[in-house]
Amino acid sequence: MEKRDIFIGGAWPYANYYLHVGHLAALLPGDILAKYFRGKGDNVIYVSGSDCHGTPITERAKKEGVYPATIASYYHNEFLKTFDKLGFEYDEYSSTMSEHHKEYVKLQFKKILENGYIYEKKELQDFCESCNSFLSDREIEGKCPHCGGKSTGDQCDVCGDSLDSSEVLDKHCKTCGSKTIMKPNKHLYFRLTDFEKELQELINQNKDKWRKNALGEAQKYIDMGLVDRAATRQLDWGVEVPVKGYDDKRIYVWIEAVLGYLSVGKEVAEKRGINFDEFMSKNNPKLRTYYVHGKDNIPFHTTIYPAIISAIKNDYNLPNYIVSSAYVNLNNEKMSKTKGNLITANELMEMFDSDTLRFYFSFKGPESNDMNCSLTDIIQTHNKFLVGMLGNFVNRNLSFVNKKFDGIIKEGCVDETIKSATEKTYRIIGDYFEKGEIRNAVTQMFEYVALANKYYDSRQPWIQVKEDVNGFNDTTYTCTYMIANISNMIAPILPHASRKIKEMLNLPEYQWEETNIKGVYNIQNLKVLYDRIDEKKILNNEDNEQIEQKKGCSR
Ligand SMILES: [Zn+2]
Ligand SMILES: [Zn+2]
Repeated sequence: MEKRDIFIGGAWPYANYYLHVGHLAALLPGDILAKYFRGKGDNVIYVSGSDCHGTPITERAKKEGVYPATIASYYHNEFLKTFDKLGFEYDEYSSTMSEHHKEYVKLQFKKILENGYIYEKKELQDFCESCNSFLSDREIEGKCPHCGGKSTGDQCDVCGDSLDSSEVLDKHCKTCGSKTIMKPNKHLYFRLTDFEKELQELINQNKDKWRKNALGEAQKYIDMGLVDRAATRQLDWGVEVPVKGYDDKRIYVWIEAVLGYLSVGKEVAEKRGINFDEFMSKNNPKLRTYYVHGKDNIPFHTTIYPAIISAIKNDYNLPNYIVSSAYVNLNNEKMSKTKGNLITANELMEMFDSDTLRFYFSFKGPESNDMNCSLTDIIQTHNKFLVGMLGNFVNRNLSFVNKKFDGIIKEGCVDETIKSATEKTYRIIGDYFEKGEIRNAVTQMFEYVALANKYYDSRQPWIQVKEDVNGFNDTTYTCTYMIANISNMIAPILPHASRKIKEMLNLPEYQWEETNIKGVYNIQNLKVLYDRIDEKKILNNEDNEQIEQKKGCSR
């Protein structure tokens, strides 16, 4: 089959806190798809990076008396470590702070401007005369018009209502306390409204490719009525506006961060000597694009990003597959930083192997509905599937041969029905992966493992070994064939176990295709694939118990 061009864009986490389980569940499908397509031999470009600009970071920097870059760099480095431990293999994980990204964004911004999709508009805005600067909503302090409580320019601290800065009473500058005045300020706006028809067509075209929540959210966004969006912001932290008279402003993050897919994609392509314009062209028949993110990111990927691509007019592909996850809840409660019930990916990795987490969040992932996560459920899922089914099949075969025949697997005949079931399984799982249906793919994978265990039991090799040695050799050889193919099938989800199996049997590198075995195999350093996790040990450990209670995990 001709090699395809596959572009996978993983969402860019915001660099002001650690990665939490919601990120893990939403981003994992991207890495799984990348591993699958690489195994097929396709040309994969899988990119992401840290979103480092915007006001939450500048405000925190102000509060802590540090540079915004200090905070963003700290979390960016944490993200790199966490992704590495989770076995993610990006072709490039960059950051919006990189010079390459900034230059790329400025260039595209100019193109959009030249193509007539950006215009200037003057509006009255809050201004502090003593600081001599325009104030963003969050740099304003005032009184809530609804309850009289203390508020910022966009939200009341007391009743929590979101506010428009024009309705906030008694406004003062948060930095110096002076009363604010209204002063005309100019901003650049992006003509999102010009793309309504095109975006509607995009939704209609992709009814079978985008996840249901993506279709729903995108349609909702259009039905609410698109509005032109400010493309610049009063801020000194971000990508400079490549237009005269805009030195005091920066490009708004919503327009800048999504362009990261293309800035980093181009970087990867150039390193490989690939022409990125040709690779990403909507006229490239070999290209498929996947965008992988959480529910709250849907409008950016289904409307804003395609509109920006269209406005640049470089004939790039508009998203083919939107792999958008729902939310991860803890004990049926929504997670949030303010509630204090966020579990970080690092906290989970202190308790569990990355394979265990990759399996849990892909097998039970929030594909069409919110998922409910708990430590107990992670442990039980691990014990039932990874230990009870996968580990059991591999280890009972190999340890039997190790004990009885010094680890030598003699050549035998592979059962024909098993062989055709194996070929079929690759096809079915592959189809699921290509549609972004990870849960179905994993379910199918474990149906194959169940078939393997059933075959082993029905052949009763522990009896065959005494009564029919040829039969025993065929059984063991067929099981070895299945183990070899399992090590391929699980590789996108369970890279550690896959590698372990391949080392024990000295099997060829992972590829997404049927592996035929030949000759004699000699088992090297037999290892238990997965250890059973003792529920009590995890749950009764003081630290973890604290996590469970603090974080509201169910028992
Ligand atoms: Zn001031
Ligand atoms: Zn209020």
